[in-house]
Amino acid sequence: MRNDIQIIIDPGHGGTETGAVANGYKEKDLNLEISLELARVLRGYFSGVLMTRTKDEYFDLSRRAAWVAKKAAEFSGKTICPCVHLNAYNGQARGAEVIYSIHSDAKLATCIVEKICSLGLPFRRVFSKESSVNKGQDYYCMHRATGSAQTVIIESLFLDNAYDVAFLKQPEFIPKLAQKIGEGLLTYLQIPEEKPKPATLQLQQPPKIHQFKKDNDELMAAGILKSDHTLTLDNQATEGFVIALVNRLRKDGK
Ligand SMILES: [Zn+2]
Repeated sequence: MRNDIQIIIDPGHGGTETGAVANGYKEKDLNLEISLELARVLRGYFSGVLMTRTKDEYFDLSRRAAWVAKKAAEFSGKTICPCVHLNAYNGQARGAEVIYSIHSDAKLATCIVEKICSLGLPFRRVFSKESSVNKGQDYYCMHRATGSAQTVIIESLFLDNAYDVAFLKQPEFIPKLAQKIGEGLLTYLQIPEEKPKPATLQLQQPPKIHQFKKDNDELMAAGILKSDHTLTLDNQATEGFVIALVNRLRKDGK
């Protein structure tokens, strides 16, 4: 369990701010679902996993970024902030893209996008974007205003693209996607993934004692049965065996 790295997951949008809406999906809901799963995965590795929201509520973007910056400043180690989003554009664009800060490099973004694409989604790009107004600053608020946190904006697929949306309809796709985002983070941090734990050992049932075992043992002890029948008590008896047994009993009774 690592306590030198803090993870702050930011499920994009929320409340009155829906994000992209397409094909019956609202981005804010899926972002939250993916993020909750991602938190579950990462809590297996990091003692500090925070979230900017854990329910469907509005959290103003600049206040959200400031909150992340504050948490990062209070923490002695490294803070990584994955912002979980889904894309929408013109219905044609598709695939996964991850955006990193102009003050960072593409490594974390690349690790994450490669893992997402292992699910079959096409690779679109990794990129960073400088503000055109304020040179030397990031275009995106979550990069620009999150202080010392290393922030990546993860856009796993396009909600308005039919091919990408087909992935969402696969069973268990959201947990799988969250798992892959988590794996990308672990790969970047060079933290080995834990092997799945073996299933709990089934308690061995005590062997059943056959209902005629006691008779078998007593007749053996009395010398009436000449051999041990413990393992064959369910076998059919031959007429010969029964005749021999009755005859032995007859003699024994005298
Ligand atoms: Zn978004």
